[in-house]
Amino acid sequence: MKEKSYQLAIIGAGPAGIATAVENYLLGVRDIIILEKDENHNATIRKFYKDKKRVDKDWKGQKVELDGNIYFIDGTKESTLDFFDSVLENHSVELKTHTEVQKIVKEDDGFGVVITGETIKAKYVVVTIGRMGKPNKPSYKIPPTIRKKVDFTLESCSVGEKVLVVGGGDSAIEYAVELAKHNDVSICYRRETFRRANPTNQKDIDRVIKDGKVEPILGVNIESLEDDEGRVKVNYIGREPVSYDRVIYAIGGTTPSSFLSSSGIEERDGRPVHDDNYETRIEGLYVAGDITQESGGSIALGLNHGHAIANHLLQNDNTLRRDDDVIKVL
Ligand SMILES: Cc1cc2nc3c(=O)[nH]c(=O)nc-3n(C[C@H](O)[C@H](O)[C@H](O)COP(=O)(O)OP(=O)(O)OC[C@H]3O[C@@H](n4cnc5c(N)ncnc54)[C@H](O)[C@@H]3O)c2cc1C
Repeated sequence: MKEKSYQLAIIGAGPAGIATAVENYLLGVRDIIILEKDENHNATIRKFYKDKKRVDKDWKGQKVELDGNIYFIDGTKESTLDFFDSVLENHSVELKTHTEVQKIVKEDDGFGVVITGETIKAKYVVVTIGRMGKPNKPSYKIPPTIRKKVDFTLESCSVGEKVLVVGGGDSAIEYAVELAKHNDVSICYRRETFRRANPTNQKDIDRVIKDGKVEPILGVNIESLEDDEGRVKVNYIGREPVSYDRVIYAIGGTTPSSFLSSSGIEERDGRPVHDDNYETRIEGLYVAGDITQESGGSIALGLNHGHAIANHLLQNDNTLRRDDDVIKVL
């Protein structure tokens, strides 16, 4: 088995992972690797954001002051991905894609990062794998024959379909508003109002509902799904069933519990246990980004976590600083 050695290995190239790498680089740390299971960085943004989606810095109304060196502002899906492209290009951190990390193993002098057929050695490890690897699924069964008609992203959507979006947060609203441009859309939410959404999305959903472009099914729960000759029959509680061409769930993501437990990271109430510096109970092993948040974080929060971890690492280990002559290009 081949072994490589790095000062810092970061698992997951989303906003938190990239920020952790770049903030460390800017403090003079070298030999940093980001391991990403997908074909490019930011798989969550690429897969779950609709094209041209507005990207809010203060996502879900959470006002975040940026602490670090990455100057992130409101934009679109495309401008945000371009922004992270340039952040990576301007700093010498190695991004290894198509590399799914299976677990982290604590060793005497650091960590072994286990990927297929190889173990990468690193002095410190930061886990930033987000929560969207496994989107939340409904508690009832999805019949296998209609599984292709039940989605968690807009990837397979086409035009002229009768679509049901399930959920009432910002993502569900953005999906419904976008789909309503070319489809017959309903949105089903268990609560009576879209109170959790940010003001722009609330305005947008009110408008499409008022214009008759989206049918609201509010304060209603779904009991089950059935195959109706290849369509998805939704059995509502206290309401007549309706068949749709497609049903899209936008109900958040889950904690990657099996990854955390196989790496020995303790989990409590659906979150990895960590201190104020994002260090887990295993010295030198950190967590950052969405996995540290109860119900999803934001890009800006992930950037701040990366900055905090870089400062903590450098405060505790002066030997990490290899290069004082750092040029900031952000
Ligand atoms: C539809 C939608 C809309 C959103 N809109 C906004 C918005 O407008 N503004 C905003 O601030 N936030 C928004 N968010 C939230 C934002 O996307 C997240 O808070 C942010 O992406 C979290 O960053 P992260 O780095 O923690 O995780 P992620 O962005 O989820 O990145 C995790 C990365 O780790 C990789 N990975 C996972 N497991 C492994 C493994 N085992 N090995 C290697 N790599 C792995 C994944 O492929 C992924 O690239 C939105 C979220 C969704 C779903």
